[in-house]
Formats: sequence, C-alpha cells, structure tokens
Amino acid sequence: MLTIQKNIPLLPLNTFGMAVNAPFLSVIRTVADCAHIKAHIPNHLPILPLGGGSNILFTQDPQAWVLKNEIRGIHLLKEDDGSVWLEVGAGEVWNDFVQYCVQHDYAGVENLSLIPGTVGAAPIQNIGAYGVEVKQLIDTVTFWDFNKETLVTLDNAACLFGYRNSIFKHELKGQFLMTHVVFKLSKTPNFNISYGNIQEELDRMGITTLSLKAVSAAVVHIRESKLPNPKEIGNAGSFFKNPEVPHTIYQSLKDDYPTIPGYTISEQVTKIPAAWLIEQCGWKGFREGDFGVHQKQPLVLVNYAQAKGSDIFHLSTRIIASVQERFGISLEREVQIV
Ligand SMILES: Cc1cc2nc3c(=O)[nH]c(=O)nc-3n(C[C@H](O)[C@H](O)[C@H](O)COP(=O)(O)OP(=O)(O)OC[C@H]3O[C@@H](n4cnc5c(N)ncnc54)[C@H](O)[C@@H]3O)c2cc1C
Repeated sequence: MLTIQKNIPLLPLNTFGMAVNAPFLSVIRTVADCAHIKAHIPNHLPILPLGGGSNILFTQDPQAWVLKNEIRGIHLLKEDDGSVWLEVGAGEVWNDFVQYCVQHDYAGVENLSLIPGTVGAAPIQNIGAYGVEVKQLIDTVTFWDFNKETLVTLDNAACLFGYRNSIFKHELKGQFLMTHVVFKLSKTPNFNISYGNIQEELDRMGITTLSLKAVSAAVVHIRESKLPNPKEIGNAGSFFKNPEVPHTIYQSLKDDYPTIPGYTISEQVTKIPAAWLIEQCGWKGFREGDFGVHQKQPLVLVNYAQAKGSDIFHLSTRIIASVQERFGISLEREVQIV
C-alpha cells in the first residue's frame, strides 16, 4: 500500500547519522508504486531516491520527495552450462544478495562482500572493492523513468560505466528510480585473491582449499578490521575518489615525492590513492568537535556524534584545497551531497 508520510526524520536512514527531515517520504515496494506516486508529487518538487543512505551526505533537509526503495526479490531468470542470470529487486540489501550468491555457489560478487547499501544503488556509482567492479557482473538494469513515465531497460554498454561512475550520475540524474538489476554470474569460480591482503587473511584463517564462502569471509574480516562500522561511527565509506592523472604528471610528482604510490590504469593514465595524498597533508586522525578524518583510513570522514552535514562538507573542502595546494591534484567527492 503506497503511503505519503510528512516531515519524516532521516536520521535512521543515512549512515552518516545526519539529523535531517524529509518533507515527504514514500516507500516504493513495486513498479506500480512508481507509476502511482507521480500524481502526488508537485511539479516543482524533485524526487530523491534513497536506498541504504550509505553514499549520501545530507547538509540540509532535502527539498525533495524522498522515495525509499524497498523493491525486493531474487529470481533465477535463466541459466546455461556456465552461467546464471539473476533478476534482483533494487531494494534488496547488497550484502544479503552477496551472501545468497555465496550460499548458492554463484561466483563473481564475493569480493564485494559487506559493502553497505542496496542492490539498486550499486550500478549508480559502479561499486567496487578488492579488484572487482560491479559492472563486470551486470547484464541489464531496469528503472522507472519519471519523465517518460515508463520502465526502461539498459544493457551493460548503455550504462556507460566508469570508475565510480555511470550514466545514472549524469544524463539520468534525478529522473529515475532503479527497480531491478540482472546479474550474470558464473557457476565456476574464478577466484580473484591477489588484491589487498585477501591471501594473507585466508592464510590466517587456515584456509587451504578456496571456496566462495572462504573468500567472502576473508573480505568481511578485512573490512571489519579496517573500516569504521557506521552503527558505531557515522560515515559513508570513502569520501573521495582516487584521482586519475596523466603518466607525465605522475612521473613529475614522483621526482618530488619518491614514495608516492601509483597504479597504471592505461597507457596514459595512473591512479593515485587519495588516502596517501590526504595523509601526506596531515589530515589522518584529524578531529574538530564531533567531525573528523578516521584514524586508520584517511579517505573516510566521520561523524563522532552530532556533527552537521555542513561541518563534514566544509572539512572535505579544506582537504581538497590542501591536496590541490601541495600536489596540484583536484580530489573529487565520491559521496552524493544533498
Ligand atoms: C562503511 C562503508 C564502506 C563502503 N565501502 C564501499 C566500497 O568498498 N566500495 C564502494 O563502491 N562503495 C562503498 N561504500 C559506499 C556505499 O556503500 C555504496 O555507494 C552503495 O552502493 C550505496 O548504496 P545505498 O543504497 O546506501 O545508496 P544511497 O546512499 O541510499 O544512495 C546513493 C545515491 O544513489 C541514489 N539511489 C539510491 N538508490 C537508488 C535507486 N533505487 N534508484 C535511483 N537512485 C538511487 C541516491 O539518490 C543517491 O544519489 C561504503 C559505504 C560505507 C558506509
């Protein structure tokens, strides 16, 4: 049943723990709800789809109609000798879906274990971790287009996936609600344990025979030891993207800073860890009142108790300015600012 709620606190619905209110909020459970809600939303008011609120910073009450996505369900659409195609409701919790795949021996998503949020938000910023990006596993996505008032399905190529990027952050922003994602997963695992310290963790766990379950558990252990749990300290994971720069720029930075890390992305481009740049500028562990930079992970900005979104936003601006001044590199925010 589609309901309209007014003046709803969003505190429990965002992992930064910002105490803001939505003027209107509706829970979307079906595609039909998307079609029906349109008639209630005044023309001047934009929509704001919300999943787990784990990639969003509210700096004020959103001047928007919040659509909380709770479209559920995991369906096996088809299979062949090597693969399965699963259609997943956009409101499914991402890590529940990962664990479902691990239990059913469907391979591909295990390195993305424990990323917070929903399935529907995963394609929007092309979530990634431990050497895997979700774009490698997506067959199609389906969304309700509020301008055209119809369902639209895009294949993988049409989503224009990039590093933490897709068409959904650009042309389609603000006019759609993701309803379903179809994943193509493998029946035969192709373990990817060379990234980070997965192998080390598997050794520590005493694992000698690889399995999806073991790799997923290793990733969960590593993440739990490195990243702050939003239930304890408000945060939205990495606040900034890792900058990609031309090789020539990287080489000249290396002359000045011989220890600067870099990963070759293509013939022309090197990716530099933003965490290293931020740490070099002295921000790691910085705290002012209730907001700061995490002690172990300088990419993560935190709300220790009652920080305001504007405090966190201004801190991010100061960090961007200091990295720009010292290294000549413009950091880009990964988190969506409202
Ligand atoms: C501790 C922690 C660790 C993290 N680690 C990682 C990581 O390793 N890799 C990574 O990539 N990310 C990571 N993140 C970021 C975050 O978990 C992902 O970006 C996740 O996909 C966000 O999902 P969500 O449902 O919470 O999205 P929300 O925060 O609810 O929304 C994010 C954006 O997507 C839009 N949106 C959400 N759902 C829909 C929908 N159904 N239709 C249309 N638009 C929608 C929103 O309007 C908003 O603009 C981390 C976050 C935290 C807190």
